[in-house]
Amino acid sequence: MAEAPAYDHLIKLLLVGDGMVGKSSLLSRYTDNVFSQVYMSTIGIDIKTKNIEVNGKRVQLQMWDAAVQERFQQIIRPFFKGAAGIMFVYDITNEHSFKRLCQWMNDFREVVPNAVLMVVGNKCDLENARVVSTEQGQSFADEHGCKFIETSASDNVNVNEMVMGIAEAILLKREDSK
Ligand code: GDP
Ligand code: MG
Repeated sequence: MAEAPAYDHLIKLLLVGDGMVGKSSLLSRYTDNVFSQVYMSTIGIDIKTKNIEVNGKRVQLQMWDAAVQERFQQIIRPFFKGAAGIMFVYDITNEHSFKRLCQWMNDFREVVPNAVLMVVGNKCDLENARVVSTEQGQSFADEHGCKFIETSASDNVNVNEMVMGIAEAILLKREDSK
């Protein structure tokens, strides 16, 4: 007899956004609870897996760090198929990274049209250097039908909430479509 799977749901999540906004830091903070100050530009795709419980359901999270240079974007697109959720990350101290979210959304909506989307304003520990207000982030997210949260990978603010928020929304959506 085949063994029962160790989880009820498999959830594939993507982290996308400009380089340096903190995607890899959020991922390692969430999966390892470590924060590294060393910047290593991501080549290819980093996938980290973590088993969690969401509303009593055993969930295996597969988190894909899609932080490749733009020139690779076309090549890696097919790998993102089947993602249930996408986190669009910007840096609250970098206006350009926020403006670029539109482009990121257009790119990814085509590939994963049914994913649950979340806008993530990272580096909220750098309040003094903030250039994108919480209201701007929130209204952009509202306009595009996304969830919204501000995080700090370095201070471990809202990192768990970010993942739980999107995971819960994905499970709800799956329940609804049954
Ligand atoms: P990625 O290119 O989007 O994967 O960004 P990284 O995770 O490599 O982070 C880029 C830089 O931002 C690194 O120097 C990190 O230490 C820094 N960083 C990431 N998250 C935060 C944060 O929440 N607060 C602060 N102050 N720095 C951060
Ligand atoms: Mg990275």
